[in-house]
Amino acid sequence: MEKVRVYNFAAGPSCLPLAVLLKAQKELLNYEGTGMSVMEMSHRSPVFSKIIHHAENACRKLLHIPDDYAVLFLQGGASTQFSMVPLNLMNKNKKADYIITGNFSNIATTEAKKYGDVHVAYDGTVNHFIHIPTQDELSLSADADYVHYCANNTIYGTQWHYVPDTHGVPLVADVSSCIASEPIDVTKFALLYAGAQKNLSPAGLTIVIMRKDMAGHEQSITPLMLSYQRMIDKESMYNTPPCFQIYMFSLMMDWLLEQGGVEEMAKRNKEKADLLYHTLEQYPVYRLHAEKDSRSTMNVTFRTGDEKLDALFVEEAKKEGLVNLKGHRLTGGMRASLYNAMDIDGVKTLCTFVEKFAREYGGQSHVQG
Ligand SMILES: *Cc1c(COP(=O)(O)O)cnc(C)c1O
Repeated sequence: MEKVRVYNFAAGPSCLPLAVLLKAQKELLNYEGTGMSVMEMSHRSPVFSKIIHHAENACRKLLHIPDDYAVLFLQGGASTQFSMVPLNLMNKNKKADYIITGNFSNIATTEAKKYGDVHVAYDGTVNHFIHIPTQDELSLSADADYVHYCANNTIYGTQWHYVPDTHGVPLVADVSSCIASEPIDVTKFALLYAGAQKNLSPAGLTIVIMRKDMAGHEQSITPLMLSYQRMIDKESMYNTPPCFQIYMFSLMMDWLLEQGGVEEMAKRNKEKADLLYHTLEQYPVYRLHAEKDSRSTMNVTFRTGDEKLDALFVEEAKKEGLVNLKGHRLTGGMRASLYNAMDIDGVKTLCTFVEKFAREYGGQSHVQG
């Protein structure tokens, strides 16, 4: 790595692979002989058309998305999906089950209440979101139009390690911070959505992967721009799409496929997370936020229990080129986000710092020597 680059542990927008950035840099001024950048060209041009189709096809290949699913490139972030999902999918019994395991699923629940009956199937607020419910802990309704959950809780650092069984009720998941981090069986879901700025591209792009038959039954008040069916019909180009982000996304898809796909990413991500969790566990000065079985591979959350010491950790780490380790304002403490673009060297460097900091400020280690 060039010396000018830091190890960036931000939760989103987050680091991108150097190879992807260099490719974009190389193509910036003159994209494939057009004499202009992707930022400057018409979204209706044949050149851009090729880019968006490649982005879709590569994404289909990477995530093994069947033909009866649409892949949409939208705007408004994952947060807009909090409204778009109920507007389009609360269409039979006007009722949906929501599972609350963190801040974003909480906001999604509040938003959905505007459009129909919301039944909370589980609420982790009482245990400060340290826990992912087991199947037995979910109280699902048979007549819900869909069940919504958040597969990885970016702020609290907890993650579902199974797909809930909804007994045939369509399943919707916010996968903003775990998409493409491991294999996923798309056919288990009616709809998946992700703000792309965590693990896929710069901010400004939202990915929706949905079974096509779920679209076309939206509530009559649905705003023009929030109809899935319209976006499917217009191949995400009803209006001007976020062209440059789609281009960056396509470069990221190529990179992920070259690296060995999501199967290889899962291996690397597990190795990175195991290493960091294991290192943190060696020193009593660090307290991990999540219960062991609920830990996220993507966002590792921890604290010392002393706010001043937490601040010192973040400050000292920064001096060593390990940046954006401050936890979310809702949790305090520290958070290291280990998305696909964070390589093992970054995590090893962080672990060395974790050890050094503990020795300097944290008293005794569990381990000898
Ligand atoms: C970041 C995040 C969001 C919000 O995303 P925006 O694109 O900023 O709207 C929603 N859900 C999860 C799980 C996230 O990590």
